[in-house]
Amino acid sequence: KAKLTRRGGHVIFESAIRQELESRLTLESELALAADRGEFELFYQPQVRLIDGSLVGAEALIRWRHPMRGYVSPGEFMPVVNTSALSERIAGWVMETAVRQARGWELSGNAVRVAINLSPSQLHSGDLAHSVAELLRTTGLTPSLLEIEVTEDVLLHDEVRVLDMFKRIQQLGVRILFDDFGTGYASLSYLKKFPLDGLKIDRSFVIDLLADSDDAAIVGSTIGLSKQLGLTVVAEGIENRATADFLVGMGCEEGQGYFFGRPMSADAFEKTFLAAELEAVSAA
Ligand code: C2E
Ligand code: MG
Ligand code: MG
Ligand code: MG
Repeated sequence: KAKLTRRGGHVIFESAIRQELESRLTLESELALAADRGEFELFYQPQVRLIDGSLVGAEALIRWRHPMRGYVSPGEFMPVVNTSALSERIAGWVMETAVRQARGWELSGNAVRVAINLSPSQLHSGDLAHSVAELLRTTGLTPSLLEIEVTEDVLLHDEVRVLDMFKRIQQLGVRILFDDFGTGYASLSYLKKFPLDGLKIDRSFVIDLLADSDDAAIVGSTIGLSKQLGLTVVAEGIENRATADFLVGMGCEEGQGYFFGRPMSADAFEKTFLAAELEAVSAA
């Protein structure tokens, strides 16, 4: 009897794996179709100077505009994209779209710094520094208006290559920030190893900042550390005024979060944050 149950369990297990594989393959082919049909879109979330809320930049965040499901967030499909053959194609699209958008804004008289999130494969296949240089050259974007965000998983393999790539990208005038700082295994050792320009404090430390004294201690010392190392520090996940004020009190200069603005379409971003200046340009 026990044997039967075990065999039953085994069969169930196997079919669960098969189902998972099948749904992954389905998602992969849906994503390839979505790329062909141009269903990906970049949203932009404002990044501000905390002291007065003035706009300093925008983070480009991918969305999948699904014909039936509406906007799908990257957490649901980027893990599959990043481990599939589509990875380079979509990463290239993100980079090109964001750089063109930044250049469009620059030409309209709005020097908005745009940050893009790097996929792991971008650093490990092909010559990222060369692609960035080419994009800057063909679009004419001022290099300091481009920022690249990397997470710890991007830094995991092939240190020598990553180091070389970072140096060449920085020589172009493009800044590199360490995203989700504090959530990985070895954040501090990466700060030592790589020539980073700044770090972003992960929102998991910011969300409960006012209520949780451990979070406050972690955020406070991360800000101190950044200053000592000469790094820019950006806080993520600011959802209310009080958190922003508290961060200012701790010496944090820049941040982003729902309090200042959610990620939104390029159109909405222009209307909300660039409208006044765009009008000024057309009136002149
Ligand atoms: P991330 O780079 O850490 O981006 C910040 C995430 O926090 C975004 O989620 C943003 O919508 C969310 N967020 C911002 N402010 C708040 C807030 O006040 N409260 C809360 N609860 N959340 C806030 P999103 O857009 O769903 O992106 C999730 C992750 O997906 C990103 O995390 C990034 O790692 C990845 N991702 C997004 N777009 C791209 C892309 O174009 N390429 C790559 N490789 N990864 C991307
Ligand atoms: Mg990011
Ligand atoms: Mg982040
Ligand atoms: Mg984060």
